Amino acid sequence: MTVFDTPATRELQAAVAEVVQRVIAPISAATPPGTRLTAEQMRTCLRALQPLGYLGSTIPRDFGGAGLSYVEYGMLLEQVAKGPVLFGEVVPPRTINYLGTAEQKRRWLPKLFSGDWIATAAITEPQAGSDMRAFTTTAVLDGDHYVVNGRKRWLKLGSVADLMTLMVVDPASGGLSRLVVERDISPWVSRDIDTVGLRQLSLAEVTFDGTRVPRDSILGEAGAGGEQFHRGIEASRGFIGIQAVGIASHALDRALAYARERVAFGRPIGKFQAIQIVLADAATRLQAARLLCFNALAILDSGKRAPRDVSMAKVFAVDTALAVCQAAMESMGAWGTAEEAEVERCWRDAAMLSAIDGTAGIQRLIIGRETLGMSAFL
Ligand SMILES: Cc1cc2nc3c(=O)[nH]c(=O)nc-3n(C[C@H](O)[C@H](O)[C@H](O)COP(=O)(O)OP(=O)(O)OC[C@H]3O[C@@H](n4cnc5c(N)ncnc54)[C@H](O)[C@@H]3O)c2cc1C
Repeated sequence: MTVFDTPATRELQAAVAEVVQRVIAPISAATPPGTRLTAEQMRTCLRALQPLGYLGSTIPRDFGGAGLSYVEYGMLLEQVAKGPVLFGEVVPPRTINYLGTAEQKRRWLPKLFSGDWIATAAITEPQAGSDMRAFTTTAVLDGDHYVVNGRKRWLKLGSVADLMTLMVVDPASGGLSRLVVERDISPWVSRDIDTVGLRQLSLAEVTFDGTRVPRDSILGEAGAGGEQFHRGIEASRGFIGIQAVGIASHALDRALAYARERVAFGRPIGKFQAIQIVLADAATRLQAARLLCFNALAILDSGKRAPRDVSMAKVFAVDTALAVCQAAMESMGAWGTAEEAEVERCWRDAAMLSAIDGTAGIQRLIIGRETLGMSAFL
């Protein structure tokens, strides 16, 4: 419980929890180990979460969005993260809404808001993540098309997506542009990467080899796509933080339940001070992380920028989530490591949040820059 929790957010989280239990958990449980959710399974999950604002997120209702505040969307994502599949934030509609023309919004947003289309955001490249100046994927104008060459890596849902917002280098200006790529019109080749966590989701590397993308798919001015990225990523960092909190809350809940029922030396292990202190510290740190995240999101809701606060929230929440998951696992003895106990999966999924939307190291450099007034970036 925090000052950010209201009757309305509790109602929202209860509704999300119901969808997770009724729709997402059975799909996840039926997915064999080593396989990922199919496009159809993804669509089923997206459509189930759609009425709660998962796809329309913070986009105003006037444009067909859900009109949620950043805090409300954070509450929604936190609750999804307590479930078995960490779907995460849906980024492309926000990019299209921010940069797109009225005609472009009409063309793409309804399909994304309905869950009929799955979307991915393509920014990172194999040779460059933090260093966006080293991106090499290009889009060269050729008549009424752009010709795209290059590779992108780590695209969440990249193998099952129908649409991609693609960051490319504009050779004319040297700046970064955003294109919207429809898979049916401009197909891409993808391969999924096996990772320590998020094992039911596609995390893809995609290749463009002379792929032709219609000229009217550019979002905003050529070469001006970098500025929007830096604004949009502030919210994304707050959302990653609160999802880390959601994951770790689930792990802690499992550990608390186990501490109440597991008996050793004639009493529930929760009655041992050693266990209580571990779980009390975990709950306290998680509460601090949750407050940092919602505080950062509330600043964004007030219309201000919050680079320092979102970086603090992200780095502290992810570090805390990993520590809480590990503490939960250890407090449960061997059972904590069993897949059935659901805690080891939380630990693995939390580890996946360290690099996304800026590594822990980069977050610390941002906090340092904003605190000292000096940049340690090259
Ligand atoms: C689960 C997951 C989902 C993702 N989803 C997407 C997605 O949908 N779309 C997408 O485009 N990308 C996605 N990413 C990629 C993510 O955004 C990048 O991993 C991130 O930007 C970091 O880039 P990198 O991994 O190439 O690390 P690098 O930039 O190569 O960094 C490597 C190491 O060097 C350090 N480092 C780099 N520069 C400096 C510096 N100047 N000073 C000090 N240290 C430095 C970093 O902190 C890090 O420890 C995802 C990643 C993950 C893990």
